[in-house]
Amino acid sequence: MSQSTTADRPTIYNKTNGRCAYCNEELALESGCSAELRTGAWEVDYWIPPEQAHRFPGFDVESEDNLVPACCLCRAEKATQTGLEYREKLRRRSQLATRFSCPPVELIERLIRSSPSFISLRPQKKSEPGA
Ligand SMILES: [Zn+2]
Repeated sequence: MSQSTTADRPTIYNKTNGRCAYCNEELALESGCSAELRTGAWEVDYWIPPEQAHRFPGFDVESEDNLVPACCLCRAEKATQTGLEYREKLRRRSQLATRFSCPPVELIERLIRSSPSFISLRPQKKSEPGA
């Protein structure tokens, strides 16, 4: 994934009170993902990865709204899945549902759901006729 984002690390870090947006792991502000992985190391990640941007026309993946802190493990494993898809995978795997309560992430999901293209992504949801 590209590292060209100019996002301010402390700002992104504070969005989740210093926790991984996916697994809720505690993060160390100054520690980035490098060859030697340290506890709490993390990088800025795209909730909606650029690879999936075509599914959400009108949503700016480069905006700060779309950036979340992610521990190195989650970031590597998530790859090109959306944040919601990956978090759902984690949730099913380890039943961590109650730990996921990051307001910024809920906000992002609301933004995405309000995008008209999101509705067409839902498999069998039909819009109310004559609404
Ligand atoms: Zn994580």
